[in-house]
Amino acid sequence: MTTDAGRTAHGGARRGDEAPNGRTAQATGAVPSAGEPAPPVQRLRADEVFTAFGGSPHGLSAGEARARQETYGPNELPRPRRKGVWRRFLAQFTDLFALVLIAASALTFLAYALQDPRDVGNLQLAFAILGVVVLNAVIGFVQEYSAERTAQTLQAMVPHTCRVLRDGERLELPSGDLVPGDLVALEAGDAVSADCRVVEAHGLSVNNAPLTGESSAVARVAEPTATDTALESRNCVFMGTTVVSGSGKAVVYATGAATEFGRIFRLTDEAPRQKTPLQREVAVMARRVAALAVAIGAGMFALRLQTGQPLVSAFVFALGVMVALVPEGLPATLSVSLAIGVRRMARRRALVKKLLAVEALGSTTVVCTDKTGTLTQAEMTVTRIWSGGGWHEVSGVGYAPVGEVSDAQDLRDLLLSAVLCTDARLVPPAAADGWRVLGDTTEGAILVAAAKTGLHTAAEKEASPRVGEFPFDPVRKLMSTVNRTADGDVLCVKGAPQEVLARCTRIRFDGTDQELGPRLRDAVVAADDTMAGRGLRVLGVAVRPVGERPGTAEQAESDLTFLGLIGMLDPPRPEVAEAVRACHRAGIRIVMLTGDHPLTAEAIARRVGIVTGPSPTVVTGPGLDSLDDAALDGLLARPGQLLLCRVSPEHKMRVVAALQARGEVVAVTGDGANDAPALKHADIGVSMGATGTDVAREASEMVLLDDSFASITAAVELGRSVYRNIRKFLAYLFSHNIAELTPILAAAFAGFPLVPLTAVQILAIDLGSDVLPALALGAEPPEPDTMDRPPRSRRERLFSAELVRRFLFLGTVQSIGVCTVFFWQIHASGIPYDDFTSSDPAYRKAITLTQAAIVVSQFFNALAVRTDRQSVFGLGLFSNPRLIAAGCFGIGLMAAISYVPVLQDVFNTAALSAVDWAVLTGFGVLLLAAEEARKWWVRRAPVPAPEEKEAAP
Ligand code: ATP
Repeated sequence: MTTDAGRTAHGGARRGDEAPNGRTAQATGAVPSAGEPAPPVQRLRADEVFTAFGGSPHGLSAGEARARQETYGPNELPRPRRKGVWRRFLAQFTDLFALVLIAASALTFLAYALQDPRDVGNLQLAFAILGVVVLNAVIGFVQEYSAERTAQTLQAMVPHTCRVLRDGERLELPSGDLVPGDLVALEAGDAVSADCRVVEAHGLSVNNAPLTGESSAVARVAEPTATDTALESRNCVFMGTTVVSGSGKAVVYATGAATEFGRIFRLTDEAPRQKTPLQREVAVMARRVAALAVAIGAGMFALRLQTGQPLVSAFVFALGVMVALVPEGLPATLSVSLAIGVRRMARRRALVKKLLAVEALGSTTVVCTDKTGTLTQAEMTVTRIWSGGGWHEVSGVGYAPVGEVSDAQDLRDLLLSAVLCTDARLVPPAAADGWRVLGDTTEGAILVAAAKTGLHTAAEKEASPRVGEFPFDPVRKLMSTVNRTADGDVLCVKGAPQEVLARCTRIRFDGTDQELGPRLRDAVVAADDTMAGRGLRVLGVAVRPVGERPGTAEQAESDLTFLGLIGMLDPPRPEVAEAVRACHRAGIRIVMLTGDHPLTAEAIARRVGIVTGPSPTVVTGPGLDSLDDAALDGLLARPGQLLLCRVSPEHKMRVVAALQARGEVVAVTGDGANDAPALKHADIGVSMGATGTDVAREASEMVLLDDSFASITAAVELGRSVYRNIRKFLAYLFSHNIAELTPILAAAFAGFPLVPLTAVQILAIDLGSDVLPALALGAEPPEPDTMDRPPRSRRERLFSAELVRRFLFLGTVQSIGVCTVFFWQIHASGIPYDDFTSSDPAYRKAITLTQAAIVVSQFFNALAVRTDRQSVFGLGLFSNPRLIAAGCFGIGLMAAISYVPVLQDVFNTAALSAVDWAVLTGFGVLLLAAEEARKWWVRRAPVPAPEEKEAAP
């Protein structure tokens, strides 16, 4: 959609042009008459903008907005075109394993074709390998598709809202509901949701990087400009860009595909999907294993030829070795496991935007958390007010303006000034819910307290309209507005008490304005400390009459008269204390970084258990400034509890960098626009879904839908378990590769002329009976002791010496069982080695036993690897029903291969007896017992500290 004015603003088409999606705005008859070219939007005065788009300073009416929505449709960009299904399916065949297997299949087919007489077995093998390739491609394709769907669903859960004025009411609406003519409110941290013409600006600046590539902030004004295009104009803001500072209002002139962003919107799915370090590590490992497999296969081929074997049988043997070593099911299992982790985290209210975060979360060593909203409920209630040397108690809880304020008549000036300096709005209860605050909850609490004194906040705001403002800034920790009152223009200031106090020269005390001498100053500080010591969040309020409009915030916020202190209660979230305990048990350090008063911070930290000792280290923002890098490093190296108070986003950034320099893996929470650098710099940036700004959400890897610290802990636990699960199925998969290879090599060295396990059998194990248990292992819930161990060392690689030891151990025990049953059967038949043929019933029975021994022992192996150190019996042997079902499926498949005549022909197998199964089960139980004994041995040793843990081999 676009309006006439909007189109010409782009220097593009004129009236009557249709946007490709048919959304051409005809702004309710307010557009210039036919024949006249409409003036470009950037050249209009603010009042003309309203006329041109049929809007008004009160916004559109709800009915008009609905009508326009019918005409123009939702404010959305068209979905990117996807690569065709077939192309995506065929891309699966370019995977390394697929290529190796395709080559193997082609060679087998060639061997069949050149052989005289031809061996149907080789033809079957060629098709079996091809079947494996296709099966793998199908699994890969389905996985990729479902991962994409999950990502889309999760993305849709991240809120995209904007503030709009409709019928004079400030509403928060989904960005998709915007229509041309809408009047939107812009604040620092907002993502701009449509192309808009600015009609009011207070220190407004935006980052146009997504459109222009220029990442520095550019100022925006409300005055008309003479530029040719809107894009060059300083009075327009565009979809996809963000507000860096200040505030303002703007009229929407283009939505959806008609925006500048919509025009340059290209196929996003062409961008290569980034692999996480874990995926890269596994890919490198798989490539090495494949190369090793090919090399060993080639070596075996040469060796067999040298010992006088016919070419084809030597080749088939080598192929068996190669196939035994390639972990075909690995890529699919890995992506499923990561995807399951992401889905589970979403269920725990933590949306992971990048797979990378799943791994990083598991190795988190420090969480830097803010206070308001994350540790506390961000539901503020003013409980005490200090003014003119006296205390006033406020009763009632929540946002319902019901309660009493003692000596309320003395607080009018203080509360009125505070109210005039707010943007929030109190919303009366709709159907089921109670009173709500639209906007900042701190401001909401002030409105509620004022209403409790009988002040009509909305009417007062209308009676003293705002003519200027300096929006809240976490660095200044202040907000000021200029309001036109009956007594002239007044500057109303509220903010952190010390900051307000530092800018005051007078104080209203005992009803008169007095000089703010040291005694009174001390009285204010003492009152502030008293409230902060009880965990209250305290705001100071001050005023000053202003003659002409002040230029800068510094000029304005000086020579003020102090009116009083407002203390509000923000109770801790009930679930946080347990989450903090879990972090402590898990060896994760919690550093609190807050903009609030040190005493408030300490009181809250004690209530949630972050501080337990008598004297935590408390450092303020200015204190941090006085430390050089070495001193900061020393501070962070000091063990114990650390609270950083009165800090600004820049301090946060510096602390994160310093922690990382110490080798810590840092998760950082943030909600404001200025937090974006710290979030980007952190190993895991965590932003707030409910209260955070769009910019913070953009910059973070994880979004907490409920803003709660407890969700971070839950995500860390899941991140740890994903990593451990991956190790479990790697141990499971690689140990059986050893069990497949050992009998082949043993037979070769023992001089047995045939293979104890054919290539088709290996494929049946790798892709028939092994994949499902591996997937079930990837979906194991976190082990109970997941949060009782120290974090993983950063240097520790997935493919660690511990993992290698584990699969070598399991593989060896399995191999012993497999080789025993094979050679036992061969020897029991009493036939000399050289007289064996592949059709010999004893040989067929022996290779069936080999395959079944691997399948059965893998079932027990899957149970054994479920825990690293704990006994699996403690976890409940059957507590992962999916794993049991997957194992039973594998054994069922093996039974079919053993008994069904058609399959007996394909696999050259024979029927097993009940005694055979009993012996195989006995070996399985032995494997489980051996692994339990190993765990018992490991449990006796204390858990190593992360530094002592092994690095990559
Ligand atoms: P945290 O960083 O833990 O969430 P915080 O919310 O106190 O703590 P900021 O939002 O940076 O941190 O606020 C810093 C200080 O600025 C607050 O302690 C308060 O005194 C003051 N302040 C907060 N919100 C406002 C506001 N809307 N207007 C004026 N001052 C404010």
